[in-house]
Amino acid sequence: MLREQSVVENGFFGEFGGSYIPEALQKVLAELADAFDTYKDDPEFQEDFRFYLREYVGRENPLTFAKNLTEKQGGAKIYLKREDLNHTGAHKINNVIGQILLAKRMGATRIIAETGAGQHGVATATACAMFDIPCTIYMGKLDTERQALNVFRMELLGAKVVAVESGQGRLKDAVDSALNDLVENYDHTFYLLGSAVGPHPYPTIVKHFQAVISEESKRQVLEKEGKLPAAVVACVGGGSNAIGAFAHYIDEPEVRLVGAEPAEAPTMTEGVSAVIHGFKCLTLLDENGEPQPTYSIAAGLDYPGVGPEHSHLKTIGRAEYVTVSGEEALDAFQELSKTEGIIPALESSHAVAEAMKLAKTLSKDDVIIVNLSGRGDKDVNQVFEKLNK
Ligand SMILES: *Cc1c(COP(=O)(O)O)cnc(C)c1O
Repeated sequence: MLREQSVVENGFFGEFGGSYIPEALQKVLAELADAFDTYKDDPEFQEDFRFYLREYVGRENPLTFAKNLTEKQGGAKIYLKREDLNHTGAHKINNVIGQILLAKRMGATRIIAETGAGQHGVATATACAMFDIPCTIYMGKLDTERQALNVFRMELLGAKVVAVESGQGRLKDAVDSALNDLVENYDHTFYLLGSAVGPHPYPTIVKHFQAVISEESKRQVLEKEGKLPAAVVACVGGGSNAIGAFAHYIDEPEVRLVGAEPAEAPTMTEGVSAVIHGFKCLTLLDENGEPQPTYSIAAGLDYPGVGPEHSHLKTIGRAEYVTVSGEEALDAFQELSKTEGIIPALESSHAVAEAMKLAKTLSKDDVIIVNLSGRGDKDVNQVFEKLNK
C-alpha cells in the first residue's frame, strides 16, 4: 500500500506541485525526471516527436477564423485552434506520443495508464498499437460500465483494460492501481499520465509535449493577423490542453490567459490549497478533507483538482479562471455546430461559451484564440438524450 509520505524539493510551481509520494515511487519518478531532462533537448528525440506529430497525428492543425460566429457575436475576432482535427479527435494524443517516445528511450517494454471517461485510455491504446508496445489501461469499475464503448475501443486497439473495483471505482482508484503497478514493475514499465497533474515531473512533461499547441498558434496568429491575440481561452479539467494553449504566451503579459472550468466542478474558482493524488494544487474538499466528488456534463472536465501550474498562474494573477455552466456549454455546442459546421467536444464547448462572452467585451480589432481541444462526435448521443428530455 502507498501509505507513508515524503516530499522532494524540486517540481514546485510557487507553493504548488511537488511530489508527495512513498519512497519507492520517489526513486522511480526521479529516474523519469532525469530521462526527461536528458531527452527533451536531444535533437534526435525532437525530430522523432515532430515526425510522429506530422505523419500520425496530422499536425500542424489549422487556426481557423470563425467568421460566422464572430459576425453573430459582435466584438473580437474568434479563431479556433483545431485540436479536434488530430488523429483520435483531441489534444491528448500529443502528450501520448511524447511520453511513449520517452518510454522507448528509457527501455520500457510495457505501458500503463489511467483513464476516467476513457479518452486518455483510447489515445494511449491507439499509439501503443502503432508503436507495437503492450499496454494496460486502469479504469474504475463504475467508469467501465458508464463508458462501455470506450472499453471496447481500447480492447479493439489491443489494450488490456483492468476494471478497478476498489474505492468508488472511479478515476482516483484507477490512478492508485496504476501507481501500485508502477512500483511493482518499474524496471520495464512506463506510466503514461494523461493530464498536467500528478507528482513531479509529470506536470512539466505534459506541458512540454502539449506546448506544441501554442507554438503553432502563435506563429499562425502572427501570420494571419500580424499581432498577438488579446486573449487565449481554453477549458480546464486537469489542465493539459489549457497549459499547452497558454505555454508560449505566458511571457507575453499583454495576452490574457483565460481558463474555463465547469460551474459544477469549480476547482480553480472555489478550491483551496491541498495535497491530492501526490501533488499540491487548488482542489475541492468535502467536510472530511477528502477530494470532493464532482459532476460535469463533460466527462473530461470532471476532476476535483487541477494542475499545479494553473494553481500557481492563478495565485500570481497571470491567468484568469472562470466558470461556465453545463447549460452554457450545451448552447455553445449547438451554436458552433450551426454557425461554423464544427461540432465541438462538450469539454471544448466550455471554452467556446466563454469566448463568446468575452468577444463582446473586446473591440473588433482584437483577436481571441479558443483552443478547440476535441471534436464532439463522442458527445452527440448524450446531447441528443439531454435535448429530447
Ligand atoms: C480530456 C479532455 C479535456 C480535459 O483535460 P485537460 O487535461 O484539462 O485538457 C478537455 N477536452 C477534451 C476534448 C478532452 O478529451
